[in-house]
Amino acid sequence: MSVRIHQLAKEIGMENKELLELLKSRGFVVKSVSSTIDNISAESLIEEYKEKAAEEAPAAEAEAPVEEEAPKGPVFPEGVIVKSAEDLEREKQEAVAAAEAEKNAAIDAAKQAQAEKQAEAQAAAAAKAAPPAPPAPPAPATPPPAAPPRAAPPKAAPPKAGPPPAAPQSPISGKPPVAPPPAAVPPKAPAPVAPPAAPPRATPPAAPATNRPPAPAGPPVPPPAGPPKPPAATPPAPATPSAEEGATPETEAAPAGELQTIHLKPPIVVRDFAGEIGLKPFKLISELMEMGIFASMNQTIEEDTAQTLATRHGFVLEIHHRGEDQQPAKKIVEKVDDDDPKFLKPRPPVVCILGHVDHGKTTLLDTIRKANVTASEAGGITQHIGAYQIEHSGQKITFIDTPGHAAFSMMRARGANVTDIAVLVIAADDAFKPQTEEALKFARQANNAIVVAVNKIDAKGANIDRVKQQMQEKGIAPEDWGGETVTVGVSALNGTNIEELLDMILLQAEVMELQANPTCGASGIIVESQIEQGRGATASVIVEKGTLKKGDALLCGESYCRVKSLLDENGKILKSAPPATPVKVLGWSTAPSSGDRFTTEKNEKTAKRAAEEITYQRKRDANAKIEEANKETGGPTIDDLFAAIESKQKKCLKVIVKSDVHGSAEALANALTEIESDKVDLDIISVGVGNITKNDVTLASTGSACIVGFNVKLDNGVQSVAKHHDVRIIQHEIIYELLDQVEEEMVGMLDAELSEKKLGAAEVRQVFPTGKGRFVAGCMVTEGTINRNKIARLVRGGETLHESTVDTLKRFKDDVKEVRAGYECGINVEGFNAYEEGDIIECFAVEEIRPSLR
Ligand code: GDP
Repeated sequence: MSVRIHQLAKEIGMENKELLELLKSRGFVVKSVSSTIDNISAESLIEEYKEKAAEEAPAAEAEAPVEEEAPKGPVFPEGVIVKSAEDLEREKQEAVAAAEAEKNAAIDAAKQAQAEKQAEAQAAAAAKAAPPAPPAPPAPATPPPAAPPRAAPPKAAPPKAGPPPAAPQSPISGKPPVAPPPAAVPPKAPAPVAPPAAPPRATPPAAPATNRPPAPAGPPVPPPAGPPKPPAATPPAPATPSAEEGATPETEAAPAGELQTIHLKPPIVVRDFAGEIGLKPFKLISELMEMGIFASMNQTIEEDTAQTLATRHGFVLEIHHRGEDQQPAKKIVEKVDDDDPKFLKPRPPVVCILGHVDHGKTTLLDTIRKANVTASEAGGITQHIGAYQIEHSGQKITFIDTPGHAAFSMMRARGANVTDIAVLVIAADDAFKPQTEEALKFARQANNAIVVAVNKIDAKGANIDRVKQQMQEKGIAPEDWGGETVTVGVSALNGTNIEELLDMILLQAEVMELQANPTCGASGIIVESQIEQGRGATASVIVEKGTLKKGDALLCGESYCRVKSLLDENGKILKSAPPATPVKVLGWSTAPSSGDRFTTEKNEKTAKRAAEEITYQRKRDANAKIEEANKETGGPTIDDLFAAIESKQKKCLKVIVKSDVHGSAEALANALTEIESDKVDLDIISVGVGNITKNDVTLASTGSACIVGFNVKLDNGVQSVAKHHDVRIIQHEIIYELLDQVEEEMVGMLDAELSEKKLGAAEVRQVFPTGKGRFVAGCMVTEGTINRNKIARLVRGGETLHESTVDTLKRFKDDVKEVRAGYECGINVEGFNAYEEGDIIECFAVEEIRPSLR
């Protein structure tokens, strides 16, 4: 059975349209007044409205006396009076019912009553800690069926305010549907005590202090969703919240008297900062001078100084350090997206060739790419990292050419880190060597797959089994010995098994499922960098992900770049470089450090700014560290001072390192610092790439340094300037030769050392008087020779009595220069006359010996 809506409306005395709306709001699917609802719902509605009608009468009556009567509606602990949506609906209809005069009187009375009541309540609250219990009348709870609870807006007098937006919901569960009398909640109360941000309840003392005393009468009412219903004329209400808000920092946009916020990123350059705070730069400079800071337009100032100045000029300065703002966070998000498997595409493997010097790495690479690099290499040693790409069986393989000398171990470690597969070259006729072990360690640390190429299988004395045995001992047992390491015997020189080695590399790569996203912004690793004549700073890089293109803006530590050109290993211009491609990038601001990672920035300006920030940050960190260290140690101690004096006395060779590429400059500097000496210190003043210039000579001359050049030439005229300034230039193309020369230079700074060499000894057999109280010792030379004018020591009973020179040496009557063992002679030691039989005269020569560093 069902009931039509218009019938039901009649039954409960409601407008058809209103009922239709009400039902819709309660979730009934009703289209028009002739739609039906089920009987049970209809009955429940009728019931509900009957009850309401019953309660309406006393409620309306209650409004008139406005006495301090307890409210009829339920009152929550905080004094929130809750009523149902139906109440509100009905109030709408009844809004006109209340007489204006009556209402005003009621309001006034209520205000007064409430003020009194509040005063009482506050006094009571002050007396006991317990909160003042608002009058809570017995609640005639008649909950409508299955309705979720909700809090309705507080009910005041029945005004004509619009329906609260959240009101047309289901009736209140467990709460009387009838509104409380106005006495409980005076009409004005809700407005002033409803600051939007106040969560549960306002603190009673605060409100009356700032607001009009009578206004926040009664229990404070937390604001529900619905708008309050002030009956009009409540001017203080809006004033209060705005005054409160004015005090909050969020309102910094407020025009008058407000501090304007400026946002800056360090470094804070005087010119930029002046613009930000609306000053002419020279004005700012003079203000800085007043503060005792002398900075030019383009110099930077400390953050604290900027803060002081900003405040002085009425600004709030917010400094955003790199990494603190949201940009990087955005980037992280982007990065996560970059690695999304749906973007990943297969990429070629990056392979490095590692191994002991002379085991054939360069020859192997040459054979692989069919170009002869060995012949052009000074000293036959691979000097620095290069990278190349080849194609085998239609697939690409990228090779990193790793240096073989120990001095490059740092670079080699980096070389191994960019790579997926390490080919460990072991000469079959030489087997494992220290650098082989070192290379194996690097490969393991870099998590590379290892393929062993046992080279020189053609050589005399080649013993592959010995190598395999050692491999097993080192934990990389070859496959044919039951292990997992792919091992190929090759002859790099003859080209034997090279194809097989490449097949194995590709197989290994396939197993590894190497993939990268070619569509995102490029990032990768700097393999080497240098300053080239006519090209400026260049860097060879391996793209790890993304595709590098001409015009891209790159950032790498303190260097940035707008890619001017991309060149492959043969000098061919490339349009783009997808993942795993080795490519030379032109356009860097400075040579970036090998092994560093580069990323793509939005544009050149952003990249430049970021690089400047990094430079600034690094300087700041370094200064902070020094300050920290000083704080910890409380400045230099007496020991430090002594150490300083001692080090001043200690000789020191100052050097300026110049090299063709960044990687080898670093490696050389590293190797130089590893020269051990107790007697001479080595101080590297600067490390740079490029030819040796007149500037280097001037710098060296000022710092009394010498210049150490590796694989570099002298600029025109440098030789003569160096001669003029007496600056020593040490150059070589082979690193260990260079290191030897530097050691020589250090040794040359030491004073020559003297050493005694025993020439011989003679025993006094008889003492002869020579007249005038003088005596001469008649001796037998027992060992070596006794030489005139050489050092003589007279020893008696193991004790040296006198030391000077052999003054007279005679054989019979003749003066001689030397008397050998087994011959007799007469000796006079200068300044000694008391010879006794049995004395020993020892004869020594003093020699200058080459000083040593250790
Ligand atoms: P690297 O220092 O490891 O780069 O070694 P190189 O490639 O410069 O080679 C060192 C020496 O070993 C050179 O004289 C090469 O000719 C020689 N060599 C390289 N590979 C082979 C090979 O497969 N067989 C023989 N017999 N000699 C080789």
